[in-house]
Amino acid sequence: MLQRALALATGAGSLALAAALLAQPGPAPAGAVVLIGGRVIDGGGGPPLERAVLLVLDGRIRAVGQVGDVPIPDGVARVDVSGKTIIPGLITAHAHLNDGDPAQPLRDQLLAQLRTYAAFGVTTVHTLGDGRSAAHRAHAPRLPYPWQVAEESVRVRDEQADGDLVDRARLFPSGPNVVGATAAEAREGVDQIAELGVDVIKTRLDDRPEDMTPAVYRALIDQAHRRGLRVAAHAVTLEDASGLAEAGVDAVVHSVRDRDVDAALIAALASRDVGYVPTLTRTLSLFLYATTPAFFGDPFFLRGGDAYRAEMERIRDPELQARVRGGDQAAAARKVLAQAQRNLKLLAGGGVTIGMGTDSGTQLGRWQGYFEHVELELMVEAGLTPLQALVAATGNAARVMGLRELGTLEPGNHADFVVLDANPLVDIRNTRRIDSVWIAGRRLAE
Ligand SMILES: [Zn+2]
Repeated sequence: MLQRALALATGAGSLALAAALLAQPGPAPAGAVVLIGGRVIDGGGGPPLERAVLLVLDGRIRAVGQVGDVPIPDGVARVDVSGKTIIPGLITAHAHLNDGDPAQPLRDQLLAQLRTYAAFGVTTVHTLGDGRSAAHRAHAPRLPYPWQVAEESVRVRDEQADGDLVDRARLFPSGPNVVGATAAEAREGVDQIAELGVDVIKTRLDDRPEDMTPAVYRALIDQAHRRGLRVAAHAVTLEDASGLAEAGVDAVVHSVRDRDVDAALIAALASRDVGYVPTLTRTLSLFLYATTPAFFGDPFFLRGGDAYRAEMERIRDPELQARVRGGDQAAAARKVLAQAQRNLKLLAGGGVTIGMGTDSGTQLGRWQGYFEHVELELMVEAGLTPLQALVAATGNAARVMGLRELGTLEPGNHADFVVLDANPLVDIRNTRRIDSVWIAGRRLAE
């Protein structure tokens, strides 16, 4: 498999050359390839580079520049991408992997979901809330093994450190949500989850009476920071988002949806560089399935293949659609989405770092991979420029989650990128015009 992927990305002749270029002991190079003549959008917000050269060696980006400015070593495999656009691989800062079919080994289930994301050009998945914490388990008895998802996710993450990714997205897991009834309990919860080896602590305030008090979540955030971990918080009200920002949270990973954000919150988030991840498609999914959505016939959506099929069948059920149409939730969700989009525009305008996330993988019709593209569209509908939306889904998503060497197309970073047949700065829906997906410098098999 590895040999095949290498041959695909490099041509056999360039391997020896790549090794010579490295001229140092170490793992065999995962590919030496140069993409020539396309437009490069770097993911950091800079203007696109036209007629660009992107040189990839050993799974990393070695050089980016204009044709003529970047020396191309002889023998490197050349890919002509004239007329195409290269963007960094998309990063979803708030997603979920779930434990679907218990007949399959959990590891295989996780890898299959990461392959689905990759097929859509989502090359990095940051989960936030793997399974449920003990406190949430009573509300979610359908999840049989909350800890195993986190433990297996950590193992899957560790395997990608050596760059030997063949056909799946990178994974950074959070473990289960941490909440506590008291400060001591919150600190103990952080310690337990930190022991799993996760990348971030996820906590949750849900505008409910049983939510943690500010004293409790302050202790939680303090304990996570003592352990060297960032904290991402589910929060949905202005009061909670403001309190969390004051308490030093690192990211707010749902939208403020009860009212307009105010100047104080905007200033607090912007001045402390607290990331904000709107997850608009989560709300969309609450009213979208009143009828069978048109995208069920879209070949791009159908990249989801077998992974989507069971949920598509459930959504086609007329009884389910009638329940969505008749329920109060749909009308409320439409209002929530409008409020969330309004707040996104206000926050982005105020200089807050926006990251893209979806909550994909949690509940019915939150499509892993496809919804990341719908999220981009909703962000632009809210008033972001296509470039702002793209940066949210690449460079800023990495920054919000503290991911290094990912998110931007610059020398030294992992060579994770997507080649598009059309320019997404003209129409954000062009992120769906995927020519090819590359992870660690290797082209994903179709
Ligand atoms: Zn979530």
